[in-house]
Amino acid sequence: MSSSIVSILYLISALLFIFSLRGLSHPDSSRVGNILGIIGMVIAIITTLIFKNVLSYTEIGIAVLIGGFIGTIIALKIEMTALPQLIAAFHSLVGLAAVSVAAAAFYDPESFNIGNIGTIPKSSLVEMSIGTFIGAITFSGSILAFGKLQGTVSGNPIVFKLQHLFNALIFLFIIILIVFFVLTQSPSIFWAIVIISILLGFLVVIPIGGADMPVVISMLNSYSGWAACGIGFTLSNNLLIITGALVGSSGAILSYIMSKGMNRSILSVVLGGFGGEQTNVKVSDQSDKIVKQGNAEDAAYILKNADSVIIIPGYGMAVAQAQHALREMGDILKKSGISVRYAIHPVAGRMPGHMNVLLAEANVPYEEVLELDEINHDFPMTEVSFVIGANDITNPAAKTDETSPIYGMPILDVEKSGTVLFIKRSLATGYSGVDNELFYRDNTTMLFGDAKKMCENIVKALS
Ligand code: NDP
Repeated sequence: MSSSIVSILYLISALLFIFSLRGLSHPDSSRVGNILGIIGMVIAIITTLIFKNVLSYTEIGIAVLIGGFIGTIIALKIEMTALPQLIAAFHSLVGLAAVSVAAAAFYDPESFNIGNIGTIPKSSLVEMSIGTFIGAITFSGSILAFGKLQGTVSGNPIVFKLQHLFNALIFLFIIILIVFFVLTQSPSIFWAIVIISILLGFLVVIPIGGADMPVVISMLNSYSGWAACGIGFTLSNNLLIITGALVGSSGAILSYIMSKGMNRSILSVVLGGFGGEQTNVKVSDQSDKIVKQGNAEDAAYILKNADSVIIIPGYGMAVAQAQHALREMGDILKKSGISVRYAIHPVAGRMPGHMNVLLAEANVPYEEVLELDEINHDFPMTEVSFVIGANDITNPAAKTDETSPIYGMPILDVEKSGTVLFIKRSLATGYSGVDNELFYRDNTTMLFGDAKKMCENIVKALS
C-alpha cells in the first residue's frame, strides 16, 4: 500500500519537474517554473523521508543542517559573476556523491537490498560501475572547469600529441576494468575504476579552452544528471532515475544548442583541443595602432542623435553590475523616440542565459531582448552599436582568422553599424585571450572605464 503511495507521490514530483523545466524555458514563465520545481522537490524529500526505510533521522538531520548552513553561506556570499564557477563546483559534488553511493552499496549491499558482499547481482554491479565511472569523470572534470573559470588554472587548451587516442585507450581500459569488476567483485578493481575515471575527467577537460568552456559546463551538467540517474539505479529510487535523466537530457540538449550557437559539432567540443594545436592567441603589440577615445558626454551626444541603437551586453556588464544604469539609459533614449534593442549572444557572459537574467533583473522588457539570429541582420541598418563589457562575441577574427581560437564562432556583427561605442576599462582581451581589431576601426569609439560608472555618467549627460 505505502509503496503505491510513494510511487504516486514520486510521479507527481516527476511531473512537477517536467513542468518546471517547461516553465524555465521562457522568461515569462520562469518564476512559475521555479516554484513548481521547488514544490516537486519538497514532495520528493518528504516522501522519501516518511515512506522509505530511513535508518536514522538524527544523521540525516545533522547532514541537512551542515549542508544547509554551508549552502546558505555560499548563496549569500556568492557574486553573480562567480556563479558559473559555483555551478561547476556543485557539479563536482554530484559526481562525488555518485561515487560515494556506489562505494557504500558495494561495501554494504544488504542495506541496498542487492545481496551480500561477494554475491551482488551482475546487473547491480554494472549499474554501480557505470554510476561510478560517470560520477568520477564529473567530479574531476568539474573541478578542472572550476579552476579554469576561477582563473586558478590557465583557461588555454592544453594539448599533446595523440591525445584523443590516449583518451580513447583509457576509456577502453575502464570498460575492461568494469567487465573484470562485474566478474570478480574485487574492491581493488572498483577503486581502480574510480581513480582512472578521475584521471580521464581531467584529461577530457584540459584540452578545452577559450570560447568552448560554456559547452563544457553544460556537458558536465548533463554528466552530473546521468551520475544522479546512476545513483537512482543503485538505490532503486525511481524518482532519482527520472530526475537524473531529466537533468542529463536537458543538459545534453543545452550543450547541443550551445555548440550549434558556437558553430561547431558537439563531437569536436567533446574531443577538445579546439584551436589547440593551431591556437593563435594573439596578444600582439598594438601600441602603433590608433584608438579613438571618447567620454560619457561624447557618447550621450552620439546616442541622442541616433534613430536606432542596439545594446550588446557582455561579461563586463555583469562584473560592473551595470544593468540598472543601462536600463535607465535605454529608457531615456526611448523617451526621445529612439529605437533601443538588446542583442544577446548565446555565450555572452560566463554562463548560459547570463545576460538574460541580468537584464530581466533590471526589468528590461523581454520583447526588446533579441537573440543573435533574430537581430544580426539589423546591424547594417543600425546607427549605433553600444557594446557594454563585451569583447569576444563581437570579434570579427571569428570570421576572418582561420588560426584564431574563436574562428567559426558566430559573432554579433556590430562593426556593420554606423558607429560602435565600446565600454571597457582597457584594450585588454576577453575570455578567449584574442585581440579585437574592432577597437582600432574608424567607426569605433572606445569609452574607457567601469561599465556602471560610464552608464551613470551617460545618463547624467543625457538628462
Ligand atoms: P569577454 O570575456 O570576451 O569580454 C569581457 C570584457 O569585459 C573584457 O574584455 C573586459 O575588458 C571587460 N570588463 C571586465 N570588467 C569590466 C568592467 N567592470 N567594466 C567594463 N568592462 C569590463 O566577454 P563576452 O561576454 O564578450 O564573451 C564571453 C566569453 O566568455 C566568450 O569567449 C565565451 O566563450 C566565454 N565563456 C562563456 C560562458 C557562457 O556560458 N556564457 C562560460 C565560460 C566562458 P577590460 O578588462 O578592458 O575592462
